[in-house]
Amino acid sequence: MFWDTNNETLDRSSLEKLQLSLLQKTVERAQQAPYYGELFKKECITADSIKSLDDLRRIPFITKDDLRDHYPYGFLAVPRDKIVRMHSSSGSTGKPTVIFHTMSDIREWSGLIARCMYMTGVRESDVFQNMTGYGLFTGGLGFHYGAEQLGAMVIPVGAGNTKRQIMLMREFETSVIHIIPSYALHFIKSLQEAGIDPKSEFKLRIAYLGAEPHSDETRLRVEAALGVQAFNSYGLSEMNGPGVAFECTQKHGMHVWEDNFLIELINPTTLEPVKEGEDGEIVFTTLKREGMPLLRYRSKDIAAVITEPCPCGRTHRRLTRIKGRTDDMLIVKGVNMYPVQIEKTLMAIPQVGSNYLIQLEHKDYNDHMIVKVEVQAEMFHGDMKELQTLRKTITESLRSELLVTPEVELVEPGTLPQSEGKAVRVVDNRKQWG
Ligand code: ADP
Ligand code: ZN
Repeated sequence: MFWDTNNETLDRSSLEKLQLSLLQKTVERAQQAPYYGELFKKECITADSIKSLDDLRRIPFITKDDLRDHYPYGFLAVPRDKIVRMHSSSGSTGKPTVIFHTMSDIREWSGLIARCMYMTGVRESDVFQNMTGYGLFTGGLGFHYGAEQLGAMVIPVGAGNTKRQIMLMREFETSVIHIIPSYALHFIKSLQEAGIDPKSEFKLRIAYLGAEPHSDETRLRVEAALGVQAFNSYGLSEMNGPGVAFECTQKHGMHVWEDNFLIELINPTTLEPVKEGEDGEIVFTTLKREGMPLLRYRSKDIAAVITEPCPCGRTHRRLTRIKGRTDDMLIVKGVNMYPVQIEKTLMAIPQVGSNYLIQLEHKDYNDHMIVKVEVQAEMFHGDMKELQTLRKTITESLRSELLVTPEVELVEPGTLPQSEGKAVRVVDNRKQWG
């Protein structure tokens, strides 16, 4: 039950005891899947042989590639008849992976989302407009079922069609939205262009931002423009989707629901655990899933555990914002960087608009980085000197954040490609050079 906070405030040793018993059940269930059946036989792993949480380390990691190699049913642990729904990943890094859910999996997942929404203050009286894509993408139906389980009224509008979003928001007094951050910035720009003041014309009070890396600066923009409290929502389709880790009202780190997911943070190169508080790749083990239990799934997402207890009283550990996935890390002139560092820098500059694009070229035997930035339209009609000053300011801020000097190109709003789903921020034309 999402209003029962017992599990959320368990002391560490009770939580770990619960995790161990759930892990043993997971191993038992996973054995039925072709992939794990074979692996466990080879490695002599049985539920009884898992005597402590450390024994998990006897099981090898899996990655998206393993899921692809055993596509579609290699990880299925129940007869196909027990499956009531499938979802897939967005395919950001290649062929999408597929996850199967039993009825009980769907109930558990919905319960987790309801728990997240309840934690941030949503109640039955709220009207929830789900502004992310429906279909195979998990953000649509995931939040939909969670909000229904909580008892809120759901408007399943999906992504895009800004005019219709505004009409629904106004007429049905939407109080809570779920939206991809890049689309949120675009939506805000559209409101400004239409001369709509969301603070006086809408009844919005909460926004969930998730599905792609974004910075605190973006959150502050959304909060200021819409007059809402915005919370970071993290998830991945392999672990259901949203509802894996979520910010509480402290807005300082996301609680990982450790009664459903066991996390490890590893060094992606050595595969050894990192010290608490250090950045590492998050590795997940499902603790309750029936249809497709996954053990030690390498997410490729980089974050750190916040070591201090949360003032909200929940004991499930918090993760920092996701820095990016190891796949997204850019190496420019020998310097490592994540696209979100660029976002964070740009969004802190008020004249910067809602969109940007990072373009990488190979020129004269060297990496060349171009950052195209949309700025407010008025800037192009005023004094060109101001535009030059802004360009210098942006270049300087990026240089000090990245330690590489990019070429900054200022462009008018609406010039860069805009997606209603996850934004594509990087065009790397160096790849042809191998
Ligand atoms: P794909 O892996 O193909 O993008 P998913 O829809 O399963 O498909 O996306 C999950 C991924 O999205 C995560 O692994 C992570 O990289 C990213 N993601 C989701 N939520 C957040 C968030 N709040 N902050 C940063 N990244 C996020
Ligand atoms: Zn908290």
